[in-house]
Amino acid sequence: MNVELELGLERRIGKRSAAVIEKHLGITTVGGLLNYYPRRYLNRGELTPISELPFDEDVTLIARVVSNSKRQMRARKGFIIDVVITDDAGTGTLKISFFNGHRAKNELQPGRRAMFSGKVTRYAGSLGLTNPDYQLLDEDPDVPGMDPEKLAAMPIPIYPATAHLTSWSIQKVMTALLETADLDALRDPLPAAIAAREKFLPLPKAYRLIHAPETAADWRKARDRFRYQEALVLQSALARRRAQLASEEATARRPVPEGLLAAFDRQLPFTLTAGQSAVGKTLAAELSQDGPMNRLLQGEVGSGKTIVALRAMLQVVDAGGQAALLAPTEVLAAQHFDSIRRTLGPLARDGLLGGLGEHSVQVSLLTGSMPTAARKQSLLDAASGAAGIVIGTHALLSDNVTFFDLGLIVVDEQHRFGVEQRDALRAKASKPPHLLVMTATPIPRTVAMTVFGDLETSVLDELPAGRAPITTHVVGLAENPAWAARIWSRSREEIEAGHQVYVVCPKIGADDDGDFTPGEAEPEPGELEGDGAARELASVTAVVEHLKEEPALAGVALAPLHGRQDPVLKSETMASFTANETKLLVSTTVIEVGVDVHNATLMVILDADRFGISQLHQLRGRVGRGGLPGTCLLVTTLEPGHPSRRRLDAVAATTDGFELSQEDLKLRREGDILGASQSGGRSTLKLLRVLEHEDIIARARLDAQKIVAADPALTGYAALAEAIDEYLNPEKEAFLERG
Ligand code: ADP
Ligand code: MG
Repeated sequence: MNVELELGLERRIGKRSAAVIEKHLGITTVGGLLNYYPRRYLNRGELTPISELPFDEDVTLIARVVSNSKRQMRARKGFIIDVVITDDAGTGTLKISFFNGHRAKNELQPGRRAMFSGKVTRYAGSLGLTNPDYQLLDEDPDVPGMDPEKLAAMPIPIYPATAHLTSWSIQKVMTALLETADLDALRDPLPAAIAAREKFLPLPKAYRLIHAPETAADWRKARDRFRYQEALVLQSALARRRAQLASEEATARRPVPEGLLAAFDRQLPFTLTAGQSAVGKTLAAELSQDGPMNRLLQGEVGSGKTIVALRAMLQVVDAGGQAALLAPTEVLAAQHFDSIRRTLGPLARDGLLGGLGEHSVQVSLLTGSMPTAARKQSLLDAASGAAGIVIGTHALLSDNVTFFDLGLIVVDEQHRFGVEQRDALRAKASKPPHLLVMTATPIPRTVAMTVFGDLETSVLDELPAGRAPITTHVVGLAENPAWAARIWSRSREEIEAGHQVYVVCPKIGADDDGDFTPGEAEPEPGELEGDGAARELASVTAVVEHLKEEPALAGVALAPLHGRQDPVLKSETMASFTANETKLLVSTTVIEVGVDVHNATLMVILDADRFGISQLHQLRGRVGRGGLPGTCLLVTTLEPGHPSRRRLDAVAATTDGFELSQEDLKLRREGDILGASQSGGRSTLKLLRVLEHEDIIARARLDAQKIVAADPALTGYAALAEAIDEYLNPEKEAFLERG
């Protein structure tokens, strides 16, 4: 045990300080506080560029006072001190008001430099700082034995602060802790060989220099070490889980020479792409082994992941097992059910119709909204083994669902399913089943290594031949109001030509927040920033009403589709659209994922700025599927140059999903990257940035693999094993330990 790290903070910094730290930062141990690293460092001699400060967040900055004036309150007794501060570079000034600010009046005289801590707000066109705390810089107490020049060059660590605890109060406590904590007693999670190879600072020194550097080089060296340490701890945790998964015993599902799969391949109306064949071989080989397959299949929208998955499912059925396909929405589950049965043709068997002998498989659907009788039948068929393939939503996860012999789980569109759901399904088999996770949102390698590090990855990077290109246009109604009418005449032309049109809206009705039913398409956090409050956003109901009166669309069969409709109505609407009876579908993002109607050629996305990059990319992937060129119109009422329009421009500029996901990550905040939906827990990365630190992550991954391969239980790496346990928050830990 790393006793010192586990020690209660009060033992080192006293009861009072410990209570303050616990109250504001939630930290109770020595290790917790030592690992509370500065977010960045300010240079004592330099002022912070004001124009670069984020809004509405607690910031710490160094600035110079320009003016200090006093005004009397009119309505009541008291006075206000108005202080204006600047960064000298002319990028901006901030206005601060102190109510009865006796201290500010005396101390914040023009010319003084100080460190301020507070929230930057914008009021009536000018920037202000709300209730800042401040500390004069020129009056730093002399540090004994240090010459003034050296002091001037000393970086100031800036800690993630809160409204009630400034960065410099944290620094003060940290200084006390560094003096009292027994740093030399700490055991280093980094193996000595790696520390030597990388020429890292020893652990105690690294803690001192990251919290109390004397030069910029100090904190850089210290940060490098902790960053690598973080990468190694995380990658070791993932490698350990991977090794645990691999050491489990699964039932091998070997291919059968003249089985269903062979029959299916013979009747396929097209040739598999090279990528589909290659991935197919990998899956076939892994399914044939006694250890469970744990694989992530990334593939661009429309790259044909379903066939790959279906072929794997058939191999398992041939070998006597069952396969389950988990879809994120009811619409998508129903679509998979229909299209898989269609693709299977005579090889598919309905429970009631009986089969064509050996060479057929029963496909069952299981969703929460099915009529009780049909649901009971599906449950029975899954439990008895009559159903070879069971397709469903998260209803498949509920306790009353059992399988006779579940051999393979396919999770479609992973970003809607957390690891917990994955594991809930795994628990339904007596031996660990094989697992295939599919995602259409391409993820940079490093993100995949960090978020899906426990899975092996395959990529389908080409689209089937004959796929027509999709042209995307941004339709800016702010600069071209007349285009509003043009959208509908364009739709008319498409329908006259025999094709179909999707119209997507951000909301269902006039007074709701969108189609946010659980399990349905939800915008990712941070994607809907608050500029829509004043705007009337397009809603499915209002748009349907409007289009019924639209002269250009007179006589066109159109229908609404959204998550709050009755499931029966939803599937009827989808069926009517698939059958080309309904020509124009007005919907929410329920059609975002996987829906496959080849005849649809035009997609109109209203208030497109309300959607995120990956959502828009997925949405437009619904058109241009049947060899017909597709068009996507991103309609917005935002002014050109509005920040949210950058996303639209990015989507219009390329159809390369990988490029878009990079762009997406750049436009997002760091914290959103490992969102809860992806990692199964909150992002706990401290110094590591998944995009920036690719080589560090890759190097640490190699080290971790070697360590775990040689010593799976990490018996020889006690400190590393402890660091893994400590690092993972309870949620994450549950995620990694399970399975
Ligand atoms: P996604 O990867 O987005 O899930 P799908 O599996 O839905 O893509 O496939 C999109 C469409 O492409 C389907 O209609 C499917 O039948 C078709 N498709 C898949 N593979 C091929 C292929 N090799 N050649 C031609 N069409 C294909
Ligand atoms: Mg799909």
